[in-house]
Amino acid sequence: MKFRSLFLIVHLPLVIFLVLFTGCNQPAKESQTPAPAAAPTVAVPVFNADSAYDFVKTQCDFGPRVPNTKQHDACAEFLIRKMSSYGDTVLVQKGQVTTFNNIKLNIQNIICRFNPGTQNRILLFAHWDTRPWADQDTERKDEPIMGADDAGSGVGVLMEIARILSKEKIATGVDIVFFDAEDYGTRREDGADNDSYALGTQYWCKNLMPENYTANYGILLDMVGARNATFHIEGYSKQYASFVVDKVWGEANRIGFSSHFLYADGGFITDDHVYPNQILNIPCIDIINTNPSNPRSGFPDHWHTHRDNMDVIDRNTLRAVGQTLLEVLFASAGT
Ligand SMILES: [Zn+2]
Repeated sequence: MKFRSLFLIVHLPLVIFLVLFTGCNQPAKESQTPAPAAAPTVAVPVFNADSAYDFVKTQCDFGPRVPNTKQHDACAEFLIRKMSSYGDTVLVQKGQVTTFNNIKLNIQNIICRFNPGTQNRILLFAHWDTRPWADQDTERKDEPIMGADDAGSGVGVLMEIARILSKEKIATGVDIVFFDAEDYGTRREDGADNDSYALGTQYWCKNLMPENYTANYGILLDMVGARNATFHIEGYSKQYASFVVDKVWGEANRIGFSSHFLYADGGFITDDHVYPNQILNIPCIDIINTNPSNPRSGFPDHWHTHRDNMDVIDRNTLRAVGQTLLEVLFASAGT
């Protein structure tokens, strides 16, 4: 990602969103027969933050994962191998995209499926490439960033979810997708072109794999591993998928992660979730670390700098996001 559009909030008239309440408000039915036993409480697995942390670190051990580099391709092999050991099916979508500055990138979108025959599906996704420049830094601006948080953290959390789903069976269909070439978008001096980001996701939305793919809803993780990360409610998420925001923020706050999942607006961010929302009509949200008090970008200080390395990663944040996702998957999946 991308450029934040805080100014939209400031200058445009407020859009009033209809909030769809989906509570169970049906009156209880009269019945002569004994009430059935209460449904058993769903046992939600425990997220292992150490394991997730190791998955982030292993990605960083390859170095920056910039498309068209051998480090990128080596990391792809690792991701495909691990996810193949966890998922029921792994699909690798290879393709070519063209960047804003006319470079052809060979990309790989990695799609790991659980219960592929099930109709009720949830899409979880993150980008696995890293930014080729440290354009928000003051030094070595032309060198690639490590991208531990952006977005090694999202991939690490989802790898741990995949590892758990390989052991703890779930009735719902789950697709974990790692998209390539998210972060090759324009620098400030190149001019603003939001569609220059998320190239892998845009490719997938226009060349669906599997064909006719759809899901009940989707959750994107982007920068979900930094110490004291704060997730504000992102604008497109609220616009297209407010019920998913309610579900995820509700679970997070219920299980004690209110310091991370804030009930506060975070501005509109063009990120991987925009395209499935707009092209595929899959309601998708973005869990992304934002810092409105940072006047430079609205993102955390390490965003698109060389400080985005393992030093910023905190197991507590990985756990907050990972455990919340497990609650959503196991306690309220498909609804
Ligand atoms: Zn980025």
